[in-house]
Amino acid sequence: MYNAEAGFDADVIVIGSGGGGGVVAKELGEAGLKVLVLEAGPWYGNKQWQHPNSERGGEWSGDYNDLDVGIYKRIYNAYENNMNDVVSGVFRFGPADRRRTPWNRVMRQKGAIWQASGVGGTTQHYWAQSPRAYPAAVDGIWPISYQELVPYYEKAEATLPVQFAPTTPKEELFYYGAQKAGWPLLKTLDITTPGYRPNPNAILPTNEHLMDPRYPLEQLSNMEGCTLKGNCFNGCTAGPSVDKIAKRSTLVSYVPLALKTGNVAIRPNSFAIKILTAQDPKEGLRAIGVQFRDTWTGEVGELTARTVVMAAGCIESPRLWLNSGLPQNAWVGRGLTNHCFDWVAGVFDEKVLLNILGSPAVYPYVGHTSGARVEIPGTGIFQVSCMSPGLMSYLTYGFSEAGYDALNPPQPGEPWQIRGRAIGPQLKELMMNYSRTMSMLLLTDDETLYRNRVEVDPLLKDENGPVPVIHYTPSPKTLKRRDQLARHASETLRQAGATTIIRSDTPFSFMLHLESTMRMGYVTDTNCEAYQVKRLFIADNSVHFNGIGGPNPTLTTQALATRTAEKIAVKYFA
Ligand SMILES: Cc1cc2nc3c(=O)[nH]c(=O)nc-3n(C[C@H](O)[C@H](O)[C@H](O)COP(=O)(O)OP(=O)(O)OC[C@H]3O[C@@H](n4cnc5c(N)ncnc54)[C@H](O)[C@@H]3O)c2cc1C
Repeated sequence: MYNAEAGFDADVIVIGSGGGGGVVAKELGEAGLKVLVLEAGPWYGNKQWQHPNSERGGEWSGDYNDLDVGIYKRIYNAYENNMNDVVSGVFRFGPADRRRTPWNRVMRQKGAIWQASGVGGTTQHYWAQSPRAYPAAVDGIWPISYQELVPYYEKAEATLPVQFAPTTPKEELFYYGAQKAGWPLLKTLDITTPGYRPNPNAILPTNEHLMDPRYPLEQLSNMEGCTLKGNCFNGCTAGPSVDKIAKRSTLVSYVPLALKTGNVAIRPNSFAIKILTAQDPKEGLRAIGVQFRDTWTGEVGELTARTVVMAAGCIESPRLWLNSGLPQNAWVGRGLTNHCFDWVAGVFDEKVLLNILGSPAVYPYVGHTSGARVEIPGTGIFQVSCMSPGLMSYLTYGFSEAGYDALNPPQPGEPWQIRGRAIGPQLKELMMNYSRTMSMLLLTDDETLYRNRVEVDPLLKDENGPVPVIHYTPSPKTLKRRDQLARHASETLRQAGATTIIRSDTPFSFMLHLESTMRMGYVTDTNCEAYQVKRLFIADNSVHFNGIGGPNPTLTTQALATRTAEKIAVKYFA
């Protein structure tokens, strides 16, 4: 029987330790609150879990001294398939035991969902780009103003920390094309007009000894600073300790800071399956705890807390709400946005590159995965984005809404020569030109629609309950903006001198930037507390009101999570 005066296991339980969960835990720990974090996936880089993919290991860790960069580097080994295979890779959405199947999601259309379980969540393989939202996508649209977010952006930028990306050959070529195409340089973090700029990235500055031949590569990778290894996606390993790893995933930035407070303990391998609630005479329905399942043993446990924060990501937070039987709300799971990506690449002749860069290649495998961008508020972003060969081939020639280029070639007058999947001799030729190819990711200002949603399947269940079903069909307005971005990106490539331009026409449901399935103003109030369940807060991408105009979403989640922690501390623990 619920008794508000009785003891609780913690002040706050946080569900999920990814982009948002790690932040809220650190902020609340610093405020002096006792925080327990339940994370569904494994913990890489902690002495309690020496062999996290094959043995259950410990239960909890709340000690900064448990962090172990040796274990981290053994697992983050940079082999493309070992790291990224969505079925059995390190960065999959599934249990720690990689011999078992990933957790099921039903997709109602062509596409793929790129999310990772584990401490750090999907930031384990994010590219660390940390721009702010477009003010025009917030002011007069969100229930809070852009100005309200600014101090929290500043705090997150200082904590991560965020700095402008260095220029490697691909960025130099991008700037050359962007300037020739007429885009002005933007010198602000608050983007209100179109232009180009270096990316603000949560990646430590480049190691100052990188070009000094006295330092062997291995030594450099054990020192502080980015080694420009082009490996953000496959898992960054540059750094002397877990908290000094160059790419600032939540695992290496906020989680160590949370542990340092002495107030935060994290339990990996623990899938939350139900939010526990009770009727309080004063508050009405309120959260009082969480039921979770140990992913190794299958045992179900319960923990209680004065407040609960959901940060399980845009698919699992609504799933958990629905599977917990919380009050009906027509907007739970609704309004999914995704930046409706596309991918455009250009192949360059050696001579052209020698003239512009003084070198014969773009070296797509060097530098931050993405170091420069063109911003077009109202339409979106195109940003230079190059990766290791397997991933780049997959995104450039292997994955398309348009099908095969040979069967469905571009219309006359279109600015690309190839659209869709390439095969046979054409594919071989393109792949041989990998080192002279510059590719760009396009992020669309995606219209927020009620029909785009996460729901749970009425019949299909896995060990954690009814499985999520994802529906996403972009609006004509979103598709028009995406097409405009593809044309702008192609023009920049043409101005830079590309000889062949490829538009992948990426499947619309290629999901990396999921947002807005538990929208502020519909599911939560402006403190990010659920309207219908007191003391239940949301601190992941799902609480965004929209897709923030196209910029990469995580910094906005981190800023909001910082603010939410402050609101929780003031409202319930003053
Ligand atoms: C390849 C790639 C590149 C990206 N690059 C960028 C970038 O450069 N910049 C940017 O801003 N964004 C980027 N993103 C997006 C970024 O990763 C997300 O915006 C961010 O991780 C979202 O944070 P979140 O807290 O909403 O979810 P997540 O980070 O996914 O965290 C959710 C966590 O909750 C856990 N969880 C889920 N369900 C449960 C449950 N029931 N119980 C317990 N735990 C649970 C999960 O295991 C996970 O650890 C990228 C994404 C991908 C895939």
